[in-house]
Amino acid sequence: MASNSPTLLWFRNDLRLTDNPALAAAVERGHPIIPVFIWAPEEEGSWRPGEASNWWLHSSLSALAKELERRGSQLIIRQGPAATVLHQLSVESAAGSVFWNRRYEPAVIARDSKLKAELKKSGIEAESFNSALLFEPWTIQNASGLPFRVFTPFWKACLSKAFVQAAPDAPEKLQGPMTWPQNMALAELELEPCIDWASGLRDTWQPGENGAQQELQRFQAAALNDYPVGRDKPGLKGTSRLSPHLHFGEISPGQIWRALKQGQPSAASDAYLRQLGWREFAHHVLYHFPHSPQQALRPEFAAFPWKTDEQSLRAWTLGKTGYPLVDAGMRELWHTGWMHNRVRMVAASFLVKHLLTGWQEGAAWFWDTLVDANLANNTMGWQWVAGCGADAAPYFRIFNPVIQGEKFDPTGSYVRRWVPELAALPDEWLHKPWKAPASLLAKAGIELGVTYPSPIVDHDQARARALAALSGMRVKYNTPARQPMTSGL
Ligand code: FAD
Repeated sequence: MASNSPTLLWFRNDLRLTDNPALAAAVERGHPIIPVFIWAPEEEGSWRPGEASNWWLHSSLSALAKELERRGSQLIIRQGPAATVLHQLSVESAAGSVFWNRRYEPAVIARDSKLKAELKKSGIEAESFNSALLFEPWTIQNASGLPFRVFTPFWKACLSKAFVQAAPDAPEKLQGPMTWPQNMALAELELEPCIDWASGLRDTWQPGENGAQQELQRFQAAALNDYPVGRDKPGLKGTSRLSPHLHFGEISPGQIWRALKQGQPSAASDAYLRQLGWREFAHHVLYHFPHSPQQALRPEFAAFPWKTDEQSLRAWTLGKTGYPLVDAGMRELWHTGWMHNRVRMVAASFLVKHLLTGWQEGAAWFWDTLVDANLANNTMGWQWVAGCGADAAPYFRIFNPVIQGEKFDPTGSYVRRWVPELAALPDEWLHKPWKAPASLLAKAGIELGVTYPSPIVDHDQARARALAALSGMRVKYNTPARQPMTSGL
């Protein structure tokens, strides 16, 4: 290996220059650094990034490239397969090392483990780091040495451990190679939509590390103190909205943790950090139960007779179920690529329990339309709602979309924003327009079934049908976990 052989710094879901352990290790190595991004969606198994994720990725890569250029460096963009590209690049640039930060999706783990072994075999140093989690999934175990399936003891076990330390930030200048390898234009990856449907996403988000830091500051200044209550109000900006930034690694959970811990300790910041705990738990579960994106963790659900009625599924995706809170959420999702957590629970429960549609159908729609689509969180969210996952809601919890709307959107600001055809209806009827007196509907310019749909199912009947179907299942819980595996990752 040449004495000044460059380090290939392989960016993945860690699109930031602060608190980035792979970057810090590359700087520490002291050789020229070649930052590289490889587009290889076919290596993500059944979970190729969806359209909304691709839109985000394009903007985030563009922001990262600019930050690298400011430091005298550049982002080399290539198209996969990842193994071929890394081998080619290491030959072209005589690189001696490849550094990257770990991901935890099963297909990516398999790819990375193989790739690491191959690189090492060909004499190239290959090292991976933790940049995405507070606790690596294999470091947390219950008293029997097994993975956790319940959140509270999991989080207690985490909190008793030492936290990840911050990695040093990128220096003002990054040393590049004498000759840069050939590059592709970002546009050649065709991540942006051909037909521009993304104006709502552009108006809502600023992908990239700076956007993430601004969102964190906005949250700390304007919403954190009220988080325990505000987090359930979809009409307010009461949550951090950091989920897409976290997914793409534009900010690390450690950075958020440290920013909140610098302030006064408070119940509000603890409540918020507990949500980061759910993110950790989701990754723990995905790592130990790698089949969970496809299969329910509770095996008795495998035989459950889900029914996919295409017309109802379509009404749900379009936000035309006739239940205003569900419809508002589905339209917020379509327009902005994000949906408030309370509404995600209600909209998902509606699909699974009111319509008895399999949770996998809903997970697939969210996968394509969410800018924060994340295999661990999305799988856990859907399995939680369906009652078939780790620490899931009991099967008999069936959200009533009317009561949820009246409780969490009492003044209707959320529904009025996303379902404007109901805007003129008084609060009392907003979440159940089909019960409003005909004269009021007429005054508000609403013709049910014409300007806004009548409910596609009756809540009481749907609830009774779901309870009958779900209570028929015997509760078992014996899905075996994967053997702890750390090497190769
Ligand atoms: P905040 O309330 O500000 O929380 C801070 C962070 O904690 C979030 O950014 C997120 O990283 C984490 N977090 C919060 N709640 C959860 C949770 N229930 N599970 C795991 N992590 C959590 N989240 C995703 O990031 N990607 C998904 O694909 C996803 N799919 C979901 C699907 C369903 C059906 C449900 C019910 C939830 C899903 N969630 C998903 C979890 C949650 O809805 C979002 O993380 C949250 O709404 C993001 O908004 P926020 O950043 O303002 O959250």
